[in-house]
Amino acid sequence: MNPNAEKASIDRVVAEVERMGSRAHISAGKFRTVIGAIGEEGQLDQNHLASLDGVEKVVPIMKPYKLASREFHEDDSVVEIGGGSVPKVKVGGPHAACIAGPCAVENEEMLNRIARHVRDGGASILRGGAFKPRTSPYSFQGHGETALKWMRACGDELGMPICTEVMDTRQVELIERYTDAFQIGARNMQNFDLLREVGKTRKPVLLKRGLAATVKDWLLSAEYVLSQGNQGVILCERGIKTFEDSIRYTLDVTSIPVANQWSHLPIIVDPSHAAGKRDYVCSLALAGMAAGAHGIIVEVHYCPAEAQCDGPQALLPEVFKELMNQLRQIGAILKKEFADAAVPA
Ligand code: PEP
Ligand code: MN
Repeated sequence: MNPNAEKASIDRVVAEVERMGSRAHISAGKFRTVIGAIGEEGQLDQNHLASLDGVEKVVPIMKPYKLASREFHEDDSVVEIGGGSVPKVKVGGPHAACIAGPCAVENEEMLNRIARHVRDGGASILRGGAFKPRTSPYSFQGHGETALKWMRACGDELGMPICTEVMDTRQVELIERYTDAFQIGARNMQNFDLLREVGKTRKPVLLKRGLAATVKDWLLSAEYVLSQGNQGVILCERGIKTFEDSIRYTLDVTSIPVANQWSHLPIIVDPSHAAGKRDYVCSLALAGMAAGAHGIIVEVHYCPAEAQCDGPQALLPEVFKELMNQLRQIGAILKKEFADAAVPA
C-alpha cells in the first residue's frame, strides 16, 4: 500500500483478496502496510488489485515460501521472546541473543546451577529439554511436565525467558502454558502438523534445520508456522549430515548468509549439536556469528561427565563465559549487540 493509505483502502484490499479466494495477511510496518494474499496465484486478478485505491504495487512472490521471503518483508524481522513474568529478549536485526543451558533438564538442582552459570556468563535465555528426542527408546526421555515446572520457576527467579522442545502436537498445549518459546527439533522440522499447531499459538518458535533439509525446505517449514499467523519464527542452523564423519554433523555456515538473503527471519547457530564435541564448539559458534547469525544456542554443564544426555559437547561455564566475550566482539564488528544478562536475583 502507499505510505499514506487510509484504513478504509486497506480494508477494501483485504476484502477483495478474500473475495477472490485468498487469505489476507496484514503486515503493518513503520512506513507502510503490506498485504499478503495467500493462496493460488491464478485466483487473483492482479490488475484489479493494482487499480484499487491506496495500492502502490502488486508484486507476485515467486519463491515457494512467501511470508518467510525477503520479497514479502524487506527488513530483518525482530522476534521477542519473553514478557510477562520475565523480561523480553529481542532476536533479529541488530539484536543478538544467547540461549544456553543443559541439553536435558535432569533434576532441579542441576538446572538451577547451570542456569546461574549461563546467566552470569552472558546468556539471556535459558534452554533445557523436558521432552527429549532420543535415538534409542531406552535412553533417558526427559522429565516432562515436572521439568517444565522447574524451568519456569528457574527462569522466573533469574529473569530469563525459557525455551524448550516440543516433539508432538499433543504436547503443544501443555508446553505453551510454561514456556516462552518452543523449540522444534531437527528431527521434527518436517512434522507439518506440529508446525501448524505451534503456528496457531503466539509464542516464538525456534526452528532447527533438519538433518538433511535444504535451506528451501527449511524456509518452507517456517512458512507452515507463519501461515498460521505466528510471526515469531527464529531459524537455527545446527549442522547437517554429510560424508564427513570426524564430527557429529557438519555445520553449514553457508546456510546463514543464504537464509539471510532469502528471508527476513532471524537465524541463530547451534554449535553444540553440530560439533558433538566441546573442543569444536567455540570455533563453530564464532564462525556462525561471523557469517551473520543473530546469536547462538549452546549447551553448558558444570560437570559434563554427570550429564545423561550430550555431555561430550557441553561447554564448561568458564569456557562459555569467554566465548561470550569473543562473540560480543564479533557482534560489534557486524553491528549486532547481545542483550545484557538479567540483573542477578
Ligand atoms: C537439542 O537441542 O538438545 C536437540 C536435540 O537438538 P537437535 O534437534 O538439533 O538435534
Ligand atoms: Mn542436546
